[in-house]
This record gives sequence, C-alpha cells and structure tokens, in this order.
Amino acid sequence: MTHSSFQPAREAALAAMSAPVTGLKGVGPRLAARLERLGIFSAQDVLFHLPLRYQDRTRVVPIGALSVGDEAVIEGEVQLTELRYGKRPTLLSRISDGTGSLTLRFFHFNAKQRDALQRGVRLRCYGEVRTGPVTLEMVHPEYRPLLAAEDEGAAQMEETLTPIYPTTEGLHQLSLRNLTTQALARLSTDEGVEEWLPAALLSSFRLPSLAAALRYVHRPPVGAPVDLLLAGRHPAQQRLAFEELLAHHLSLRQLRERVQRHRAPALHPPGDLFSALQAALPFQLTAAQQRVIAEIRADLQRAHPMQRLVQGDVGSGKTLVAAAAVLAAVEAGYQAAVMAPTELLAEQHLRNFGAWLAPLGLAVEPLTGKPKTKARAAAVARLAAGETQVTIGTHALFQDEVRFNKLGLVVIDEQHRFGVHQRLALWEKGNRGGEYPHQLIMTATPIPRTLAMTAYADLDVSVIDELPPGRQPVETVVLPGSRRDEVVQRVLAACRAGRQAYWVCTLIEESEALQCQAAEDTAVQLSAALPDLRVALVHGRMKGADKEVVMAAFKAGEVDVLVATTVIEVGVDVPNASLMVIENAERLGLAQLHQLRGRVGRGTQKSACVLLYQPPLSRQGRARLASLRETSDGFEIARRDLEIRGPGEVLGTRQSGLLQLKIADLSRDQDLIPKVDAAARQLLRDYPDHAAPLIRRWLGEAARFGDV
Ligand code: ADP
Ligand code: MG
Repeated sequence: MTHSSFQPAREAALAAMSAPVTGLKGVGPRLAARLERLGIFSAQDVLFHLPLRYQDRTRVVPIGALSVGDEAVIEGEVQLTELRYGKRPTLLSRISDGTGSLTLRFFHFNAKQRDALQRGVRLRCYGEVRTGPVTLEMVHPEYRPLLAAEDEGAAQMEETLTPIYPTTEGLHQLSLRNLTTQALARLSTDEGVEEWLPAALLSSFRLPSLAAALRYVHRPPVGAPVDLLLAGRHPAQQRLAFEELLAHHLSLRQLRERVQRHRAPALHPPGDLFSALQAALPFQLTAAQQRVIAEIRADLQRAHPMQRLVQGDVGSGKTLVAAAAVLAAVEAGYQAAVMAPTELLAEQHLRNFGAWLAPLGLAVEPLTGKPKTKARAAAVARLAAGETQVTIGTHALFQDEVRFNKLGLVVIDEQHRFGVHQRLALWEKGNRGGEYPHQLIMTATPIPRTLAMTAYADLDVSVIDELPPGRQPVETVVLPGSRRDEVVQRVLAACRAGRQAYWVCTLIEESEALQCQAAEDTAVQLSAALPDLRVALVHGRMKGADKEVVMAAFKAGEVDVLVATTVIEVGVDVPNASLMVIENAERLGLAQLHQLRGRVGRGTQKSACVLLYQPPLSRQGRARLASLRETSDGFEIARRDLEIRGPGEVLGTRQSGLLQLKIADLSRDQDLIPKVDAAARQLLRDYPDHAAPLIRRWLGEAARFGDV
C-alpha cells in the first residue's frame, strides 16, 4: 500500500482504537480469550460487535396490552399463588394490574420463593409472554417485589433499550454490556473511532456520523423503532453497513487500479482469423455475443491489462466469445492460456478450441494431468519456446515449471471456482519486463447486478444476456424418490425416441468416494432395468483418459444414458441429451442445480429435468426446488440463491477473505450498493487519503490481499 498522503496523526488515532481489548477495564486473559472467539481483539471490535436484538425495559406495559411473543416489563399485584402437582410440581402465581391478569409459571422454585409470592404483594416482572390455559403467562420471568415506597410505574426503569449481543460460552450479556459502555465512552473523548466519511458525503447520503450510529445501535433510546432495528434497516445500522460496503468496494477498486498501472501489449489484430472462424460456424453469433466480443476487442487495444468478467447463463455461448479473444491475441503475435476448473472441462475446451482453431493453423495444446511425465515436459518446453500458441489447462498452469514465451491473454473459465489470488498468480506469470497479459474471466453463475458491483468492483463486467435462438425452456418436474420407477420409464421413452439422458447421482455424504459408489450402483441398477439401452458411467475418481472415452462416446451418441456424479456440472455440452434426472436434488444448491440442468435444452428439441428428492424436504429445500420449477432465468435464480444462501456461498468467496461482511447483508442492503459506488468515487476524488484507513478498519489484514 502507498501511504504517501497518509497523515501520521490519523494513524495514531486509529491505533488508539485498535489497541488490544485488554486495555478495557475488567478484561483479563480469560475474558480476552472468550472475546477472541467472537472475533473481538480490540476496543474497536467491541463497537462493531452489534446487538442481535433488544429488550425494552424502559417502560411498564399494561397486562391488557400484551400480546403473545412480546418481551415486556409488567407490574401487578399477586391475586393467588398455588402449587400444582401434575407430572411435575408447578408453582403458579396469578397477578393483575387492573387491565388484565397474567400467570407466572415456575417449574423450579423453593419454599422461600413460594412464600414471597403471597397475595397482595406487588411485583415487577420481565419475561416473554406466552399463551396459557386460562390467561397469558410468563414462564420463569425475572421478577422482584416492589417496595411500599415505589409507586406503580415509578420505580427506576432502564434509560435505553437493553442490547442482547451474540455471545459465546462463559461470556455474559452483562460483560458485553459493560465493555460496550466503556468503548462507547471512548468515542466521546478524542481517541475514539475516527470519522472517515466526510461531512458532505454524510449529508448527501443522509447518514448519521459514525459515533452517533454506534451509540444508537448499542443503546437505542426509549421509543426507538425496534422493528426497524430488528430488521437491520435503521439509519444507524445502515450507516455502518454503508461504511463496511464502502471499505470493501474501495479495496477492490484499489486492486483494480494497481493492476491498471501496469502495461499490457496493445493488440491490434486485423481480425482475419476471427472472420475465418465465423465463416466456418454452422450458426450466426447472437447479438449479445457480438456486443461482448466488441467490448473485449476494445479492451485488448489498450496498453493496460484488460480485466473483464463475462457473465452469461449456461448455454449462452461463452466459449465462442473466449475463442474470439484468443484469436485476437494469437493474430497479434501472442500466446493465450485458457484455464478451466476441472480436467473434464479443460478436456472439453480442448476439443472445442481444437475443432475451431486447429483448422485455422493454430497450435492448441493441453496442460493438465500429472507433472513429470515426458509428454508433459515436452508440452512445457513447447510453451516456453512459443511453439504452442494456445494452451488449455487446469490449475496445472500455475506450476513453477510452466513458463510462457509471450503470454498476451489469460482466459479463466468459471471464475467462482478460483480465488482472486489464483487468478492473479497466472496473470503474474505472464509478466514480461513489466508488460502483463490481458485477463478475461468467464462465469456461468449469473450474479445479480448489485452483487457484481460490489464483489467484482475490480473488474469490468460484460453480460451475454441472450441465448442462441431455438432453445426451448427445460420443463422441470419435482418428484419424491418413491416415483423413481416412473422416471426410469421416462428415460426409456426418451432414449427410444432417439434422445439421450443424464442420470446424476449427488453427494450421499461429504465424501467423493461414496458419491462415486452411489453412481456405480445406480449404473448397475439402470443397466438391469433398461436392458435395451446403453448405460455408461462417469465419475470424479476415474482416470482422465477413461472419462474422456466415456464422454466422447456419449457425445457421439454411442451411449444412451450417462450416469454421472456432479463432475458434469460445469460446461459439458451434448445437444442431443434432452432428459436429465437428478437424484437427491434436495442436497444441492440452487446454482448447482441450475448448472446441471443447463446440460439439457442445448439442442432444438423439448427437454426435461426431473428432480428426485427424499422426503421430508426442509423449508430451504422446498424453496430451492420450487425456484427451479418456476424459472429458468439464471439471473432470477441467482437472486433467489442469494436470498436463500447468502452471498458468501453464491460467490464461492468464503475462504478468499473478500466480502466477509460483519454488518452489511448483501441481500438486505442491496439498495445501498449504488450509493456506495457513488460515494467511493466522491471519496477517492476529494479525500483520497481516507481510503486506506477505511479499508484497514473493515478488512484489517485481509486488505493486504490487495498488495499485488
Ligand atoms: P456456455 O456459455 O454455457 O459456456 P457454450 O459456449 O458451451 O455455453 O455453448 C453452448 C452451445 O451453444 C455450444 O454447443 C455452442 O457451440 C453453441 N452456440 C454458441 N453460440 C451459438 C450461437 N450463436 N448460435 C447457436 N449455437 C451457439
Ligand atoms: Mg462454458
């Protein structure tokens, strides 16, 4: 990071708040260890550890105004206390305040307690209101007798709502409350949490100051809109979420700028190769493909590295777009590398690219599989010598021994399987005396626009928002496993009509071995049930060459039913396959199911997808399967996936450190994102030195990740 414009005084202020939490009163090593479990290391962390919910102990609620589920303070006079001997002895105490009566129910009690709850005693209670056989009830409420001097409702009440924090074993709410009180007190002295959002920005976005927001969230005043707070939509919470999103956004922008500062070869190919490819294709490019290709060509002509993400639903024809970019690089005299997440997909790309590019005279070679074989060494040598123009591989492309002669373009397919650092590692490999390759990243997981703006703020985004003509939507049915036999008959019918089918076995447990076993068993069963059909098997534990043989046979129509594990999820393309059966579909995520289903409906005939599930379905499971039945729009599915699973899962960035949000919630706070984008521009223009401390506050060590 550059800190040239960074002021030492600010650094000092920041350091005060990031001082260890042991600086707070009452925090010894034991408490510190417990706090660590919650991710709390500093005084500042205490302030960003926000309440889960609130209790309202600020006022007494008339019993007559209570509803079930409320947590409230009530006051009343004991009418009757009795002991019941049912299955378990129970102490019941009826109290009344003139507006209604309510029963206090105790399963654990002692004689002293019982005697204290005499008729006529006035009590103040706090608890959750439940239904009871006769009146509303509180089970084991907190309570204390009111003294004779304390008039009704006049005894001391809390002055703010009571925060309830997420906690961990051995850490009491009272300790957390005590720590936040101390940390909040520091806010008012000058060593508090620094305000990095300029006043102009705060007022234009109508956000409270950081200190005000923190005070409000930890200690909401009497009458605060609890519903809004519980929903995380209060302006004070939104202010914090906003700052967090802004910090993430700034860090990605910084990453982008860092890459942009490097040089890249400006590629000005005449375009003859691509014209030749187009002439050889049996179809026309869609308008969306043409548009995205034009965007890529414009990027390639610049003397700085392209960083473009192409999003396109399954089957939208991303491979061809990648081929256009590859041809541009090669025609301009550079090498191109295409990286796929799995061997199977790399092999398929090799076939496609081979079929398209070899007739144009290009040398296309794989780089996958085991290192240290002779063939592999020869491939590496040809690449280093520049004899190979296009290399297609997996993670193997990262290996140290792999050197390029003149790498002009890196294409990364299915980006969410690779972390940002992996992507940049390959990019670094292409460094030739300070000149770096262009990068094209392709993802079949359509990401809602708002999420893309945040998660991919380091990339330009192109969208292929159109499928090739003639595609028919895939009819999707959801059936319980008990109807498996009917499904087998359906497979038979499809294959008799000259079509092919996939039968996908999903994870039985978190074990690939078991999944492969299940697929093997299923293949045996289906062969027995369908003696006239040719059933084959492909799974992740087979050798690359064996998989290749099976896939090639399926593609050639020599296999009717392909039993597979989820290895076929990504990218496999067999247009004559019109039926897909997915077993235990409830175990898979929405995006993965959508990807799998995208394997059918690639030809012009009507296709179907049968989702078999094992009852009972969880609520989430039901929602997922219903979503698939209702829509085939990848963007809509991504939006719902985001709702069901949250962004970490959707982006596959859980481990990467990116978008590990503490406060913001990308589905809840989507509306903030365009504002964040605008605020980032404003901040970088007018207060560029505020960016670094903001990033450090929210991303901490993870921010170093941006140091490319
Ligand atoms: P994805 O975007 O999922 O990677 P692919 O690139 O595998 O999709 O393309 C899916 C199928 O559509 C392939 O068989 C490909 O040859 C074909 N295809 C690509 N572009 C077009 C087009 N413009 N018209 C018709 N078919 C196309
Ligand atoms: Mg693809």
